[in-house]
Amino acid sequence: MYSQKTDVTIIRSNRKTVSIEVKPDLTVTLRVPRRITEKEIDQILNEKQSWINKHLEQMQVRNSELEARKQPMLSMDDIKKLAEEALAYIPDRVKHYAPMVGANGISYGRITIRNQKSRWGSCSEKGNLNFNCLLMLTPPDVIDYVVVHELCHRIHMDHSAAFWAEVQKVLPDYKKAKKWLKDNGSSIIGRM
Ligand SMILES: [Zn+2]
Repeated sequence: MYSQKTDVTIIRSNRKTVSIEVKPDLTVTLRVPRRITEKEIDQILNEKQSWINKHLEQMQVRNSELEARKQPMLSMDDIKKLAEEALAYIPDRVKHYAPMVGANGISYGRITIRNQKSRWGSCSEKGNLNFNCLLMLTPPDVIDYVVVHELCHRIHMDHSAAFWAEVQKVLPDYKKAKKWLKDNGSSIIGRM
């Protein structure tokens, strides 16, 4: 079944062929002959599902590239300031969440703030935590999500179902923050 059918606008007209358009605002328009049935429309959407998804993804990437171009590049000075802010803020969030992870809380090692294009955070085998200073350009619940994500790696060094269950236990709403990062992350990293 085409999962995003609600976002599809169906326009019937005196045409003989079917056309699909994916617009930059991520809406899908399906133009069909006037006499086509609902069942046939469902069938078309099912057949074109992967095509639509591919184009929605491409549009999303293009949108975030455009967004990145609108925002000024960060200077070395900006990055230094963000790193200082992160150092004053993130360790407190780690301290706040560490007791909530696992059955009795977890320990952690050194906290390092970096500026990097590749990742938002990481956790080493020894429990040293590393966070991207660009997190300071994201909303507070996104920072909390990345903190909790890395802390949960103290229990599960993978992205298994058990890992995500642990994240959800600490942050029931984590999916919103994860999606925010997926949608906006590359445009922030693009400023570096
Ligand atoms: Zn991870």
